[in-house]
Amino acid sequence: MSRDDRADHGQHPESCRDMVEYLSDYVDGDLDAALRDMIEAHGGKCPPCRAFIRTLSATVLAVRALPREPLDPRSRRALLQALRAARQQKTP
Ligand SMILES: [Zn+2]
Repeated sequence: MSRDDRADHGQHPESCRDMVEYLSDYVDGDLDAALRDMIEAHGGKCPPCRAFIRTLSATVLAVRALPREPLDPRSRRALLQALRAARQQKTP
């Protein structure tokens, strides 16, 4: 019956939750300038959000840096055959 657990969030306002919703667009560069400014301003005074933004950006950049190699045709055929065989085994 105490309200104290909620009082703790005084320095971590509602806007932190909004941040999370906008962050993936922010990292993708899809956000309006106004929203981007808001996130950057918020990150400037909110260390947890700043750390989160930095981690997320680093993750996205790392994933983008990975080479996207298409599956070579032989592996692709082998995979399809294996899948088909598995499906046939299941049908009685
Ligand atoms: Zn925050």
